[in-house]
Amino acid sequence: MMYDRILIRYGEISTKGRNRNKFIDKLRKSVRKTLEDFPQVQIESDRERMYVLLNGEDGRKVAERLKKVFGIQSFSLAVKVEKDLDKMKQAALELFRSLYSEGKTFKITAKRSDKTFELDTNEVNYEFGGHLLKNIPGLKVDVRNPDINLQIEIRKEAVYLSAENILGAAGLPVGSSGKAMLMLSGGIDSPVAGYLSMKRGLEVEGIHFASPPFTSERARQKVVDLSAKLAEVSGHFALHIVPFTEIQQAIHKQVPDNYTMTTTRRLMLQIADRLREKFGGLALITGESLGQVASQTLESMYAINEVTSTPILRPLIAMDKTEIMNIAGKIDTLDISNRPYEDCCTVFVPASPKTKPKLEKVKHFESFFDFEPLIEKAVQETERLLVKPGGADSGQEEEDLF
Ligand code: ATP
Ligand code: MG
Repeated sequence: MMYDRILIRYGEISTKGRNRNKFIDKLRKSVRKTLEDFPQVQIESDRERMYVLLNGEDGRKVAERLKKVFGIQSFSLAVKVEKDLDKMKQAALELFRSLYSEGKTFKITAKRSDKTFELDTNEVNYEFGGHLLKNIPGLKVDVRNPDINLQIEIRKEAVYLSAENILGAAGLPVGSSGKAMLMLSGGIDSPVAGYLSMKRGLEVEGIHFASPPFTSERARQKVVDLSAKLAEVSGHFALHIVPFTEIQQAIHKQVPDNYTMTTTRRLMLQIADRLREKFGGLALITGESLGQVASQTLESMYAINEVTSTPILRPLIAMDKTEIMNIAGKIDTLDISNRPYEDCCTVFVPASPKTKPKLEKVKHFESFFDFEPLIEKAVQETERLLVKPGGADSGQEEEDLF
């Protein structure tokens, strides 16, 4: 293969006016991070596109990685050629030969942003089409549905040859929309909510509530493994693990059974909100979907949400379980989520949680006990892991990536 670079077309960021440079900068960082283990690659960018210079690295492998990066509309393996007609023809033929096998049809698609170039697009199509036909016996043109569409793009600085457009993951570059904290259980929904939030450009950190010894080491590992999957999108994923046992025990002592779920969620939300503040996020994210379970009725959300005015993003709110499971399958979290280990809410779940809790009642039940010291203690004792795509790392601080 003679490709020497990958040409990346920006997605929605091209519409972002003055913020464009910031977006390009974030995308550049995402691309650099995802290609960390290809030491030879170099990244160049301008306002219209980005180039990954391969310098000998395997273009196909690099392309596989780029498919997962948000903020890329499409990309192509390409080769850069000097703006000299003879050199261009020679390179076009060479590239074409590396892709051609007998029986394949082709067409040429020329694009010209440099209007001073000696040939216009029709002339380029004609000239290069003729050149290939002359040199490859039996070759046939098919302008409607060619097997090989050789693209010749003539720009000010050079000419770029490419033959396929690979669809990118679209969305916005991770980190370009700011930071939010994902409440990450071991279930199916919350990892999907995290993934979709990243797709809209959020940098996401996870918060998981664990209640050892009622929840097992394997339940914890499940969440670490889910985090490792989410880390594939952003290069790493910070996971906060909150020790929640003491609080759950206190709740069960203080609050009538059918209200424990509501109070549990309210306390989780308060702790998550403090961690959000501590680590500089501006929103919380959950995997809630309207009406799915008792805690996800409007009445429940109303009673639970009351503890904070921080925006709570619920990317799955209007999705059906099958739609969510479909995405979970695609992002490869479904099998991990389906492992049977119980999480803290399942262990302590009351026989019949209120589906329509009353805010005044829950506040009344909570008023007999001062949860504040326990909340603060849980925040202080929260452990922060930095999870990499391959698995966990107990490392402390990351480089300032976003
Ligand atoms: P999921 O599949 O994400 O667990 P679910 O349908 O099982 O969701 P719930 O268990 O009611 O629904 O949880 C609703 C949301 O609350 C979750 O999507 C998640 O954001 C948050 N959540 C639940 N349990 C935990 C936990 N142990 N740690 C952190 N967040 C949690
Ligand atoms: Mg759950």
